[in-house]
Amino acid sequence: MPKKISERQVKRQISEYFPWCPFCCFERLQIDVRPERNHDYVHCDNCGAKWEIDAQEKIRSVKLVTTSVDRKGKELLEKETEPKFWQNKAWLCVITRKTPEKS
Ligand SMILES: [Zn+2]
Repeated sequence: MPKKISERQVKRQISEYFPWCPFCCFERLQIDVRPERNHDYVHCDNCGAKWEIDAQEKIRSVKLVTTSVDRKGKELLEKETEPKFWQNKAWLCVITRKTPEKS
């Protein structure tokens, strides 16, 4: 059985994939990593979204387990996704937010 990577490494990898919330761009995501559990979690106190992280020798997949309060990501709920997917989505969140509105 592959040994799970250390708590510190998991946290570092999670913060790379989740630099901020992919739904609301909130920058202080809660990373909940515990070595005795099979899964780790990331959650956003701002919009209420929560992800389950499957980390073994590295982060293998990410699953959205709770959508944001305004139901963002409902089509992705309970689906196994690539961690990179969320990283792209986080960047997209910031790009769309920071684009000045054309008058
Ligand atoms: Zn959020």
